[in-house]
Amino acid sequence: MAIAITRRGGDKFFAGSGHTMDEILKLVTENQPLPKFPLVGTLRTKAAVKRDTVEAPNVVGMLPGSDPKLKDEYVVMSAHLDHMGVGRAINGDTVYNGAMDDASGIASILEIARIMKESGAQPKRSIVFLAVAAEEKGELGSRYFALRPTVDRKQIVADVNVDMFMPLFDLKFVEVQGLAESTLGDTIREAAQEYGVQVQADKEPAQNRFIRSDQYSFIREGVPSLAFKFGYEFGTPEDKVFHDFIRDRYHKPSDDLNQPVDKAAAAKFNRIIVSLLQRVADSAARPRWKDDSFFKRFAK
Ligand SMILES: [Zn+2]
Repeated sequence: MAIAITRRGGDKFFAGSGHTMDEILKLVTENQPLPKFPLVGTLRTKAAVKRDTVEAPNVVGMLPGSDPKLKDEYVVMSAHLDHMGVGRAINGDTVYNGAMDDASGIASILEIARIMKESGAQPKRSIVFLAVAAEEKGELGSRYFALRPTVDRKQIVADVNVDMFMPLFDLKFVEVQGLAESTLGDTIREAAQEYGVQVQADKEPAQNRFIRSDQYSFIREGVPSLAFKFGYEFGTPEDKVFHDFIRDRYHKPSDDLNQPVDKAAAAKFNRIIVSLLQRVADSAARPRWKDDSFFKRFAK
């Protein structure tokens, strides 16, 4: 069983303990240590478990590599095709659309596959376009693929994951999760520079975003990986758009098409990812973890 305490219900939860929700949240905001204390109330619950089998296929396509020596190595681009379905009504709406999370990433996969195919791109390594199921249930689809891929597991050289990359304003900065962890960080710098876009490291590392989406399934198998957000500078209108989204729309029915999607910026982002994929596919050496990376321990 898992329980979430809402801000609204918080004071009832803490009643009689000598502490309040406001006090705890203030400590959290100030990064202060949290107190430990007994709660007065008792919770009695009964839970019934009903098991069902659900099938949720991954969908995978491939642009075969052109180099006889490298075509049996694979660069994966991934995004998740699931969201949260129909759920608790918010403002009378029960449909959790998932426009940013992660229809945006799936749109990018389709568009990037189209661009590469139609432009006659001939990457040396093969590129695998992977739409995974059940990210929202704990990255189950990508975990399955990373353990039992449709290609030789040892020949997957990188994962480039695109999940909720937030094309809600102009693309001046691309924020990269995993920037300092592997040589892929150097490659995304080159790709972004080609389009006049600056690279930012993860600005909110406490959010643990590098291990909170499908790239982590590959990281656990030792595969160098990256993930992305549209970047911004603190205190700017873009910062507000980003965090308003997290507060008002993330994992809510309002993550829908009534948002100021900047399609030109999204297209530029896609071009950068194409360049990244092409560079990783063509580079003589496979990407590798940096020696001082925490994640190097997973390398096989
Ligand atoms: Zn999500």
